[in-house]
Amino acid sequence: MKEIRPPADPLVGWRYWQLGADARGLRSVSLRRFLWEPERPMRASCMTGGHQAPAEDCDCGIYAAPDLDTLRSHGLCLSPGGLVVGQVSLWGAVVIGEDGYRGQYALPRTLSLVEGTVPRESRSSALESLAAYNVRVSTTGLDDAVGELSGAVLANLVMSLGTGATPS
Ligand SMILES: [Zn+2]
Repeated sequence: MKEIRPPADPLVGWRYWQLGADARGLRSVSLRRFLWEPERPMRASCMTGGHQAPAEDCDCGIYAAPDLDTLRSHGLCLSPGGLVVGQVSLWGAVVIGEDGYRGQYALPRTLSLVEGTVPRESRSSALESLAAYNVRVSTTGLDDAVGELSGAVLANLVMSLGTGATPS
């Protein structure tokens, strides 16, 4: 089903972002070259179909899950770097599927830094970079953000990445 939503009445979904290695700016988890600039709507484009995104019979558009549980059930493919979870507003053309939404325009609506996914010494700069988005910023536990199984995997990943400090 495809709807047209005005910016003032967006469809609200949930998604993950990652902070770049420099903790400056949100990036899409699956397409990390896409930087979400603060206060600038992200606009979808179709890289294969040559049509306006999102199209119903394609997989283009900016993805969001209808709720946090659904988002968590999708699992994650992460690169090193801070993990952020939050709500996103979708407007313009929005395709509503069984387990998620694909939007034409998107802006973060709430942002929550997932504890333990950035080294302690970068935590305040990570929160600072989220503040630039001018939405409600909070922090959340790893298990709450990604579910227990993924949380355990992520905790291992974070530990194996270390903090950048060399053992003395
Ligand atoms: Zn497409």
